[in-house]
Amino acid sequence: MREALAPETEYQIIRSETPIWEDGFKIGEPTGEIECCSCGRSALNIDEIPHKKDCNQRWAKTGYWRARFLAE
Ligand SMILES: [Zn+2]
Repeated sequence: MREALAPETEYQIIRSETPIWEDGFKIGEPTGEIECCSCGRSALNIDEIPHKKDCNQRWAKTGYWRARFLAE
């Protein structure tokens, strides 16, 4: 799972591809959603992305979550 933590392949910020009157965001403006580069699923919170079952980044979490799991 080491590659799952490689920062350059983890996630990308979704940017609006439609005008502001379509979705409230200007073209190219980040919508606040994060997309998993491996399976293409997205969510507003990086820890809540519903990864596909075979996604190799399924268990990749933010530093916040890693720290919590290690503490418990
Ligand atoms: Zn994924």
